[in-house]
Amino acid sequence: MGRDSWLAYNRPEVDEDEIRAVVQVLRSGWITRGPVTDQFEQALAQYLQVPAVAAVSSCTAALHLGLLLHDIGPGDEVITTPMTFAASVNVIIETGATPILADIDPATGNLDLASVAALITPRTRAVMPVHYGGQPVDMAALNELARKSQLVVVEDAAHAMGSQQHGRPVGSFGNVAALSFYATKNLTTGEGGALTLFDEESLLRVRELSLHGLSRHAWNRYGLGGSWQYDVTRLGFKYNMTDIQAAMGLAQLAKFPALQKKRVQLAARYRELLTDLPLALPALVPGFTHSWHLYPIVLDLSSVRGTRDDVIEDMRQSNIGTSVHFIPIYRHTYYAERFGWRSEDYPGAESFYAGQISLPLYPALSLSDVDDVAAALAASLAGRRRE
Ligand SMILES: *Cc1c(COP(=O)(O)O)cnc(C)c1O
Repeated sequence: MGRDSWLAYNRPEVDEDEIRAVVQVLRSGWITRGPVTDQFEQALAQYLQVPAVAAVSSCTAALHLGLLLHDIGPGDEVITTPMTFAASVNVIIETGATPILADIDPATGNLDLASVAALITPRTRAVMPVHYGGQPVDMAALNELARKSQLVVVEDAAHAMGSQQHGRPVGSFGNVAALSFYATKNLTTGEGGALTLFDEESLLRVRELSLHGLSRHAWNRYGLGGSWQYDVTRLGFKYNMTDIQAAMGLAQLAKFPALQKKRVQLAARYRELLTDLPLALPALVPGFTHSWHLYPIVLDLSSVRGTRDDVIEDMRQSNIGTSVHFIPIYRHTYYAERFGWRSEDYPGAESFYAGQISLPLYPALSLSDVDDVAAALAASLAGRRRE
């Protein structure tokens, strides 16, 4: 049983549109941050319905700048989720602040707000939600909690390009939100990220921080009307986007609604085919639009002989690539040793992780590819049924 050829877990959606746009920049004589990045920022701000966007080199950079913009540093605590990628926690540590992990709600994979509330201390300065797999965190409830305790909300919206809440794009709810345009994300520039911002002063500060702390407009010092003069006004980083990336981003943004439509179709097909299997499907929350960055399922291990890893191996034997999102942060050596985190303290994340598998979901998949994935999964679970 299975396919003749390997079905990759992920594949970026890049065609002649992106190639043409990138080549045009390469021929233009201006290849780093310039007018095309300006255009991409404006187009993103319009799509996300926010006053301003700063395009940067990665979501990791955007998260770091989002924390620094709110002066988060040594002595501060930032609450986040263990069900995320290392980047979320690393940037908190990079600022000198202390990351605090709340547990998750296994029904959504998102932060459990009661667990967040219980961890707030006088040192807590910020909370960093992750919209897990594209499932929106309830931002109205989180913002209310943050308001009561005067916390800054720095959204890790790496999965949430395409997610909405009551008709508004995710990325427009927190104090700042960071998006990722990494190769595997719903909209890609190869590497890249963006920070959503709500006032001009923050935009200018983030621009300066992203380019060595150089005074505004220094990026244009080799351009028409640019001056050779610049001044370093604060300590900064090298986090700028390039026009090559931005050109790719603009091409992706132009077809983004079509790409999302395809993801919605594929996710609906999975739901139809997997409904009767012993596993939990991603929750559908009324009023919320999932971006379907991931298609995460959680096996009901009480009715399966073997482990999640055994099922992944069965899928591999059937020529189907899958993944796991995520190895919980507290399970990694560095964090466990440095912060003394223990798996026992995160029952929600542990039960989720034990059965979690991410199935392939990207616009280049066909409905019959989804049928193959579902058939392989059904066969694995049928062979492993616990009597
Ligand atoms: C991908 C990802 C990031 C990092 O994005 P980069 O653009 O690669 O820096 C951060 N958080 C989460 C949850 C991610 O999945």
